Amino acid sequence: MIKKETKYIIVTGGVLSGLGKGIAAASTGHLLSSRLKIVPMKLDGYLNTDPGTMNPIEHGEVFVLDDGGEVDMDFGHYERFLGVRCKFDWNITMGKVFAEIRKKERRGDYLGKTVQYIPHVVDLIKSKFYEVAKKEDADIMLIEVGGTIGDIENELYIEAVRQLKTEVGDKNILFMHLTYVPVPSGVNEQKSKPTQQTVNLLRQRGIQPDILIARCSEYLDDSIRKKISVFCGVEEEAVITGVDVDDVYKIPLIFEKQGLAELIHKKLGIYSPPDLRLWETLLHNLENLEKDVTIAICGKYTKLEDSYASIIESLMHCSAHTKHKINIVWVETTDVEEGNQSIKKKLEGVDGIIVPGGFGSRGTEGKIEMIKYVRENNIPFLGICLGLQLAVVEYARNVCEMEGANSTEIDPTVLYPVIDILPEQREIEDKGGTMRLGAYKAVLKAGTLAYDIYNSEIVWERHRHRYEVNPEYHSKLIAKGLIISGRSEDGKLAEFIEVKDHPYFIATQAHPELKSRLQEPAPLFFGLVKAAIQFKASKEEQ
Ligand code: GLN
Repeated sequence: MIKKETKYIIVTGGVLSGLGKGIAAASTGHLLSSRLKIVPMKLDGYLNTDPGTMNPIEHGEVFVLDDGGEVDMDFGHYERFLGVRCKFDWNITMGKVFAEIRKKERRGDYLGKTVQYIPHVVDLIKSKFYEVAKKEDADIMLIEVGGTIGDIENELYIEAVRQLKTEVGDKNILFMHLTYVPVPSGVNEQKSKPTQQTVNLLRQRGIQPDILIARCSEYLDDSIRKKISVFCGVEEEAVITGVDVDDVYKIPLIFEKQGLAELIHKKLGIYSPPDLRLWETLLHNLENLEKDVTIAICGKYTKLEDSYASIIESLMHCSAHTKHKINIVWVETTDVEEGNQSIKKKLEGVDGIIVPGGFGSRGTEGKIEMIKYVRENNIPFLGICLGLQLAVVEYARNVCEMEGANSTEIDPTVLYPVIDILPEQREIEDKGGTMRLGAYKAVLKAGTLAYDIYNSEIVWERHRHRYEVNPEYHSKLIAKGLIISGRSEDGKLAEFIEVKDHPYFIATQAHPELKSRLQEPAPLFFGLVKAAIQFKASKEEQ
């Protein structure tokens, strides 16, 4: 068998952070993915092993993979745009790199040598690219270098990809650089200087970009493309506009219109005709929404939408399939506790609510009040992870007459600990990477709403939690009508709960939002949106 030659696409970013490098990389991958195996890798400069110990306010949502890896939101884009299931090894962080270097040094792998950034650290980084490429039998490795060129943090990665070019040969590697073309107000002219400067920074490090993606509020004028081409040594046709869009799913189409797949074909000699038909249909739906429906998300990080990125994505996926615009209302539940606004007022015009995952006690009483209100008023409800736990607390307090029931995460000495720490979590001291993480199997009970929604007995969803419904309370809750509609394979953990005689009241210990795709919305979200549409219609009839 002829050994496959893996090709490498390296994506770097310049000028500013937050220009959408992850989306640009994922969109490029999308164009090539119809016939090729694209494996995305992300290189992060921070010294944490992974983002699992970071605050979502600082770093956005922590995305969880099937194998239990905690990674950043960009992996969500890769999974959604490339249709792949990513692995923890596909994320390199300086935390992981240095931990391995230290281990190797202690073991004596470098005996007699001075351990140095070059060659040792950079070689280790490159070895990770090769390992993953081989293990996955990748046609293309799509490597996104985190941060902005010039950051101290990513210099070793930049050196690694520079050396990679010499090792794999010019015809097997392509450098794509994301830059920014401002149109300053008052000047009203597209400006190329930041792009010239960022490309100079790359060249100083020995890298000449092959393709530039210029983020801009409008398509680049021919004259500015020519200027960028001349100053940056990039062919004019390889200066692509990453024009501002209201919806990131349009980016693959925008790139394709400008010939990106063909440019890559020319440089790497590898082709996979972009198949954008389904994508185009769904985008067409999104542009032609017929009605609207309103979903409230009740959380404590509501000021930072990135903390709930996959939930917002999941709703958008439902929007494309129901042709309904989904208005999202953010409800800060700490306000509810402070009695600033009555729940009724907050939920005016709301057709369904989501209580998402979370940690700690802040805002939980407000969420419990919300859940009570929607349970009693037949408003569609989806609880996710902490959302399930608080739904159980609410039910215990208000239906099972267990006054003051709570989770021991919130009140460690509570009389009715209906939510308690998982037994295997009790002895754990390290905080990083130790939750119940990754995809777990659940068995759904026939005849329940969960079974109906998934249309299957077995489901696999991803988890990230330390607490669970206390098994000692299962029978008491069931006796008062709570339905445990899905359990872990061994029957011990309550993975899905629901209540009787309610149009849509369901919660899961998992995070179904992590597996939602534009082509296939997560079933629990799809169910919620459909129930919300019905709820709205029944209100209008009255
Ligand atoms: N804090 C809860 C737990 O650890 C819920 C976690 C979550 O919502 N992801 O179990």
